[in-house]
Amino acid sequence: MSFIDNLIANVIRDDVRANSAYVVPDSSGLIKLDAMENPYELPRALREELARRLADAVLNRYPMASYASLKEKVSATLGIPAGYDVLLGNGSDELIQIVATTVANQKRRATILAPVPAFVMYSRSAQFAGADFVGVKLKPDFSLDMDAMLAAIALHQPAVVFLAYPNNPTGNLFASEDIETIIRALGDKGIAVLDEAYQPFARHTFMDRLDEFENLVVMRTVSKLGLAGIRLGYMTAAPQLLAEFEKVRPPYNVNVLTQVAAEFVLDHVEVLDAQAASINAERERLTPELAALAGVEVFPSAANFISLRVPDAADVCAKLLAEKVLIKNLSKMHPSLANCIRVTVSTPEENSAFLNSLKAALAPA
Ligand code: PMP
Repeated sequence: MSFIDNLIANVIRDDVRANSAYVVPDSSGLIKLDAMENPYELPRALREELARRLADAVLNRYPMASYASLKEKVSATLGIPAGYDVLLGNGSDELIQIVATTVANQKRRATILAPVPAFVMYSRSAQFAGADFVGVKLKPDFSLDMDAMLAAIALHQPAVVFLAYPNNPTGNLFASEDIETIIRALGDKGIAVLDEAYQPFARHTFMDRLDEFENLVVMRTVSKLGLAGIRLGYMTAAPQLLAEFEKVRPPYNVNVLTQVAAEFVLDHVEVLDAQAASINAERERLTPELAALAGVEVFPSAANFISLRVPDAADVCAKLLAEKVLIKNLSKMHPSLANCIRVTVSTPEENSAFLNSLKAALAPA
């Protein structure tokens, strides 16, 4: 073995060596419908004003570690209830990691549980934090299997249960009574993290239930709202609990450019809300059109994407790619997603391009 192979064998964790890096496909020149981004840019006048604000950003200093003004803006414009502080992350990806790291390490084994199929960062972050990950299979219609969830909670006593609301990659909202039952079952033995990344489209939230449940964390992001590039996530919970997560947050995890951009754009959040509303209208247009296609099963979505089952997902994805349309093949993610694909809802033009390419891909040769 070479020096570098020996070095890696000697120092890198076995489970890290066995893993592979998160794959993001190259999308240059493609209609990009694989990552649940908002297709709309900010209006030109706002972008020009943003450029002026960014020109004044103080790049030679570290950010203000308290992030007081950004937190205030997030709280005021994104619906944080009075009396609750927020913790900011470099995307909610980082917040998921912070939660996992706060409850577990190699010495203090802990279980992190989520219904599956789920957002892949729950299990990855659990693993890298040294926690055991338990996935509890959703029912075939992707609703929560409450018997299995409650049995798994009793058996594994998870420190954290992640629930994406709506769920990614399936798009559905779990029943709020089921979520309440899970939060109560965890009691003071476990934290329920409601990941509301797709809240701008679902318009359902547990944010107003924080007073009721002291073991509830509500996590969100500005990514799906139209600011995926700036990487900003936020979460809130009972102040004492949030203070524990705060100890694990790297002090300058949100950079000054993000801070300036977010504070400016959130003053115009109505622009992003209007974009989300047109994406929702497009989802409502697209869903019945997809459901009408022979051989296609569409899963109801409250998010800015639609998941569907087709006769041959690999074939469909390859044919769409040949038409320069990039979507996500979910087949390998979980056995219950065999031949499922996921498409981001985009502009009317891009959605029609997808629909036409899909129709052609499904047509008999
Ligand atoms: N939670 C869910 C359910 C997601 O689908 C995603 C991104 N696809 C994230 C969190 C992470 O979002 P971000 O890091 O961009 O805030």
